[in-house]
Amino acid sequence: MSHINDLLKQIPHVDRLMQNDIIVKSGVYRHEAADALRHVLAELRDGIRAGTVASAPPCDALAQVAVELARRRVCKDVSRVINGTGVILHSNLGRACLSKAASEAVVEAASSYCTLEYDIENGRRGSRTGGVEHYLRELTGCEASLVVNNNAAAVLLILSAVAGGGNVLVSRGELVEIGGGFRVPDVITQCGCKLVEVGTTNKTRAADYERAVDANTKALLKVHSSNFEIVGFTESASVKQLAAVGAVHNIPVIEDIGSGALADVRRYGLRNEPFAKESLKNGADVVSFSGDKLLGGLQCGLILGRKIYIDMMKNHPLYRALRVDKMTIAALEATLRVYADPCAAQRDIPVLAMLSLSEDELKTRANGLCDEIRKQGGSAEVVQTKSVAGGGAVPGLELASYAVALHYTGDGRGANDIEKRLRFMSVPIIGRIENDRLLLDVRTIFCDDFGYVAKAAAEVTA
Ligand SMILES: *Cc1c(COP(=O)(O)O)cnc(C)c1O
Repeated sequence: MSHINDLLKQIPHVDRLMQNDIIVKSGVYRHEAADALRHVLAELRDGIRAGTVASAPPCDALAQVAVELARRRVCKDVSRVINGTGVILHSNLGRACLSKAASEAVVEAASSYCTLEYDIENGRRGSRTGGVEHYLRELTGCEASLVVNNNAAAVLLILSAVAGGGNVLVSRGELVEIGGGFRVPDVITQCGCKLVEVGTTNKTRAADYERAVDANTKALLKVHSSNFEIVGFTESASVKQLAAVGAVHNIPVIEDIGSGALADVRRYGLRNEPFAKESLKNGADVVSFSGDKLLGGLQCGLILGRKIYIDMMKNHPLYRALRVDKMTIAALEATLRVYADPCAAQRDIPVLAMLSLSEDELKTRANGLCDEIRKQGGSAEVVQTKSVAGGGAVPGLELASYAVALHYTGDGRGANDIEKRLRFMSVPIIGRIENDRLLLDVRTIFCDDFGYVAKAAAEVTA
């Protein structure tokens, strides 16, 4: 008993440990360090009383444990991970990664004063999105444009401003749920519109819209099915056909194209992806799409179209609530700027760079990663796999790719264990389990990260 009391007396006080160099130099805030120390010391006391701790650890050791605990306790819902899943636009992993130029623009806009609504030339108040509007006009030929928080917000604003109080005609095959509770019928109701379903689930023709038009019809809405596919006997009215119906009755045609690629992603195999430019050319009056899907920018929703409708949205009270911040505008400007040069866009915008990787290049990268893992004592092999675009772009389409498959040699631990250990790395590595092997698809891993991935993979498979 006296031994236990002696040990308890040897435990240093929190105040003294707070002076320890390891704590002082850790970069952990003082309140976080103090909380962690109290926790570590309480556990130590319990251990001594229970007889499981035979001697009081030195101050440095206690400080080290406390610093590690404090770091683990930091609430950080957004931290870097390495994406080995092969899903390029992974909604759980933050969708698109920005280009270097766009990332720099975000940091600059966020950390200094900026010309958000200031006209340098004339020294007075200026437009928030003049640059973005300029690039979108150049790239798509749109008359006017607007940027809001995301594509869901875009659809909400468009329908509220253009069709509020009226009927909106939508094909039964396009009454989709995009995910996160975004269901087309609910959004239409939320905007104060009445949904009028036309056609059937698999076949809808222009005549179906024509028949449903009446004095209350305020919009013809077309929604890209994005995350599912109807196969077999299907038919849908094209934007061109809808525009013809709309023109006769003077009703706007609105298209939510979902991903909204600006580059020619069809040559990477994304065959059915609609383009904003094409949609406008075919007669859509308003087109909306996401900024962080195939465009490769930050989360936002882009609205392009005829000026009279864009003006109605700009003047709608919802716009003030849905408009984007300076970081988003900065990122969007920098991203759109590259698109005028398709080669530069493919090189600099990560989403396009990943989409455009050739099978040969992917194989070379996978071989390089595999060799490095083996060199460091790990166990891996190169396998063929399929990547997907993700983010609701082209469901069912798979891109041939290469992955490194990790497995233990010998003992009974399986892929789940490897998966978990990679996930618990200081920079978590997220992979995919297939046939009881953990796959890391090299398409979505940045070149700069291969060294880290090799080391981690060797460590968990050795
Ligand atoms: C992804 C998607 C949305 C939602 O876009 P967010 O930018 O995520 O709000 C809406 N409509 C379609 C067709 C989509 O594919």
